[in-house]
Amino acid sequence: MQKRIWLSLAQMGGGEQKYIQEAFDTNWVVPLGPNVNGFEKDLECFLGSNSHVVALSAGTAAIHLGLVQLGIKAGDEVICQSLTFAASANPIKYLGANPIFVDSEEETWNISPEWLEKAIIDRKAVTGQYPKAIIPVHLYGMPAKMDEICAIAAKYNIPVMEDAAEAMGSTYKGRRCGTFGEFGALSFNGNKMITTSGGGALICHTEEEAKRTMFFATQARENRPYYYHEHIGYNYRMSNICAGIGRGQMEVVDEHIARRRAIHSLYTEHLNGYKGISVKQNPSEEYDSNFWLTCIEVDSAQCNGKSADDIRLYLETQDVESRLLWRPMHMQPIFEGCPYYGDNVSEKIFERGLCLPSGSSLTDEQIMYVINSIKQYISE
Ligand SMILES: *Cc1c(COP(=O)(O)O)cnc(C)c1O
Repeated sequence: MQKRIWLSLAQMGGGEQKYIQEAFDTNWVVPLGPNVNGFEKDLECFLGSNSHVVALSAGTAAIHLGLVQLGIKAGDEVICQSLTFAASANPIKYLGANPIFVDSEEETWNISPEWLEKAIIDRKAVTGQYPKAIIPVHLYGMPAKMDEICAIAAKYNIPVMEDAAEAMGSTYKGRRCGTFGEFGALSFNGNKMITTSGGGALICHTEEEAKRTMFFATQARENRPYYYHEHIGYNYRMSNICAGIGRGQMEVVDEHIARRRAIHSLYTEHLNGYKGISVKQNPSEEYDSNFWLTCIEVDSAQCNGKSADDIRLYLETQDVESRLLWRPMHMQPIFEGCPYYGDNVSEKIFERGLCLPSGSSLTDEQIMYVINSIKQYISE
């Protein structure tokens, strides 16, 4: 019998247990230690671009601490890509600040530079102030238009908090995603590119910023012999056990990325252009997505009336997990009333998009089973 095919499962490399055993043997079962330091070094080597990395308990925590260090305060406005997971925007609310949502463009599905600039100009007109930060996202691993976004950010002197939670290993013009902004966030949640069973990291550009991040991540304790606090702190450091899993994962990260890209190629070869299906591609050679998840767009008029959600429901009957795209933030009850700038491109993408099983442990046979199931269903 065919086993259930999941969207994106964690895959162990084999070395993880060795690092965890070491932590037990040396009694480093705490939220710091040699594995945390080793994992951070591994990530810095991987990312290049003079990055300084701090391992944290979650990607959401990384975005939160990035915003804290950008000085975001209650009442400030922060621009965020609307088409994303809620974790990109929730930290804005943690700080009592107000999200301003911006639409996507069709090529990458990420924040539209054109609408970004319009939003910045309009907020200045409405409130007398520019927004205090910009959060672009590299959705499903696809790099956002970072040259344009960073140029606009620089023009108005607004820092960028880059959400690279889904884009570990993706590059834009040869540079790793997560290293473009003032700060960048990675996620090591169970279904991301690599896992630490739950975790994240903040990418900084100086040793100073990394130290500051650790300070905030460990309750903002001042350097005195007694506990003394001048800032609100957080308990966001990664444990030495989780970091052990991360070190094992870093031994196989390149293979995992290569496998996800190979899965995307297989979908492209057999499904792209079939009836009303198109498989999302890098817009040009400047973009090199990790293809964390392969996404398709469904033109139901050319698929015998079948929509993305119809395909999802059918795949479910075949024991295949697929998933609709992130529902834009400006369409979420929790963010009702937040300003939104755009032309409803993200809503249209949401309506026709579907994420297909893309985990690095999936075999070619399993991917072909998904492809053939979709073809059969939309031909009926
Ligand atoms: C997963 C994810 C996050 C949050 O990461 P966690 O480690 O789950 O907290 C943030 N942004 C995006 C776009 C994500 O997909």
